[in-house]
Amino acid sequence: MMDAHYVIGVDIGGTGMSAALVDAGGARVLQRETIPTEAARGPEDGLRRLGDLIERVAADHLPEISGIGIGCTGPVDCETGRIHNPYTLPTWDDVPLTDYLETRFKLPTALVNDAHAAALGEFWVGAGRGCQHMIYMTISTGIGGGFILNGKLYRGAGLLSSEVGHMALDPAGPDCYCGARGCLEMLAAGPAIAAQAVAQVPDDGLILQLAGGDRTAITARQVGEAAAQGDALAREVLAEAGRWVGIGLASLLNLLTPEVVVLGGGVMNAHAYLMPTILETVKARAALVPFERIRITRAALGADAGVMGAAKAILSNEY
Ligand SMILES: [Zn+2]
Repeated sequence: MMDAHYVIGVDIGGTGMSAALVDAGGARVLQRETIPTEAARGPEDGLRRLGDLIERVAADHLPEISGIGIGCTGPVDCETGRIHNPYTLPTWDDVPLTDYLETRFKLPTALVNDAHAAALGEFWVGAGRGCQHMIYMTISTGIGGGFILNGKLYRGAGLLSSEVGHMALDPAGPDCYCGARGCLEMLAAGPAIAAQAVAQVPDDGLILQLAGGDRTAITARQVGEAAAQGDALAREVLAEAGRWVGIGLASLLNLLTPEVVVLGGGVMNAHAYLMPTILETVKARAALVPFERIRITRAALGADAGVMGAAKAILSNEY
């Protein structure tokens, strides 16, 4: 797209906003800073602080920067560059993010959702590096994803593609806020794992102890900790979540035949207890695809996936 060597990658989440100065040729972060999002202070305050953050991170390189890419927790409107997310960014409804930054910095700006940014980051410099076809799935409070097809991020109509968390897998499963029931997110995201643990843990169970004896305080993280300490129930709850992820992935493999499947998100910190049933289920259910040629792996970039992917979004004009 451009000659200059630097772009800015921005990652906006419910808790923190990060900006990074990215060396485009070397595909590496040169400078990075994170500030609290504090969305409730209002979008005007947030945009101003984000602009100041970009200025600090860019520092002397500002004249050499060719664009700003932003990954943001959705819903976002990638066509208009506006954020519509009062759910995890309280008060941020219809916020003209790219307009603001383009006016302030006189630079081209791209907005993608955070799952797409992470997919692009893993594809560019992470676990999917060098492939042409990749499925990215992030499992945390929700489940999102992105598909790289023929070396490009697949966007779909309205740039809204890849709501992999809302593949409806269990017709008798729990109702989902999207209107369907038994969506993958309702079966395998962090809150679903916690809910299973809450329903099954006995009064003297380790998961409950780790939550300070308060059932309402149980999270997927404690289930992961209990599993690591050998707790059989925690391991079974995670194995079950892995089965659902495997069922969803098997369908995606049948449809898209990727070379690499990259699994990210906080829930994957318990990968030791999820991966065995994920692999077993995919193998049993995606028998028509060349399983031995598909690599299913954990995300490699950690916290850098968002800013690197946002940088890649502006570099490849994928917005
Ligand atoms: Zn749903």
